[in-house]
Amino acid sequence: MAKPAESPALLLENSLRSERIHSAYLISGAGEAPLSAALSFARGLVCESDPAEPRPCEACPACRRSQPAEEPIPLAAGDTKGPRFRQIGDHADLYWIERAPKNSQVRIDQVRELHTALSRRSHGGGRRAAIIADAQFLNASAESALLRLLEEPPSDTSIILVAPVATKLMITIRSRCVRVTFPAEESRVLRGHDADPSVAEVVEKLDGLGRLGLSDLIEWAEDYKGDRGQMAESVDFMLAVAGDWLSERIRDEANQMGQVPPERLDAYKTLLHCRQELTRRNASPQMTAERSLFALRSALSR
Ligand SMILES: [Zn+2]
Repeated sequence: MAKPAESPALLLENSLRSERIHSAYLISGAGEAPLSAALSFARGLVCESDPAEPRPCEACPACRRSQPAEEPIPLAAGDTKGPRFRQIGDHADLYWIERAPKNSQVRIDQVRELHTALSRRSHGGGRRAAIIADAQFLNASAESALLRLLEEPPSDTSIILVAPVATKLMITIRSRCVRVTFPAEESRVLRGHDADPSVAEVVEKLDGLGRLGLSDLIEWAEDYKGDRGQMAESVDFMLAVAGDWLSERIRDEANQMGQVPPERLDAYKTLLHCRQELTRRNASPQMTAERSLFALRSALSR
């Protein structure tokens, strides 16, 4: 029997237990789970208990120091004076970066100051970790600065990026990180249709779209070969679900990142246009499906 896939939290726990620690992690997924996993992992890295025991142990001096403060010091915004990063609790070897309250982005000066701090020796002589919460808000120059840090990682130091959607980060950053992926939230498209099995089937295929090659898309569109009336109805249904599915992604991106790549909006327009061609101009269902799937696929690959 195939071994079940390791759960994301377990993956980090096993990494602590076996002491196979990497210099960079990217933890992604919906809700609070990715951030709390990152925090627990960072605290586990500096915990002083036996590696065979679960870490953080919450009892050793390091764990007492790394307890997050109830009211953490806010980071300084833009040009104002104040901290660019803070410690986790008051542990000198655990660092934390997030968006400053008045900023829309994680800034380059924050990453640079972290880099400078990490280029010094570790305070306790052991492992260190830095969490970059809100990594989806790193702006382009901050990402380049981060890349330099990841290219020459300080010894015994782990950088832990946390973002709801991993693909928002530059591919050169992603490729240097061990990826830990928590599941995305259940699709609202599915919930909206009370899990109609034919909707579920289309959504499942759309979720895997990014992994499909062009020949797979052509094959998918070939499912719509045959009686025109019937097939036009099937394609129209697929396009309606795809439209809901895409607009859900667009809304999520707008909420999480404050912007939507123009390719997504273009693909949405193409979907609408294809539906019109299908119903008003008797376009071929198979060709319409192919055209829409190509548009979706190329919008998602960016
Ligand atoms: Zn401990």
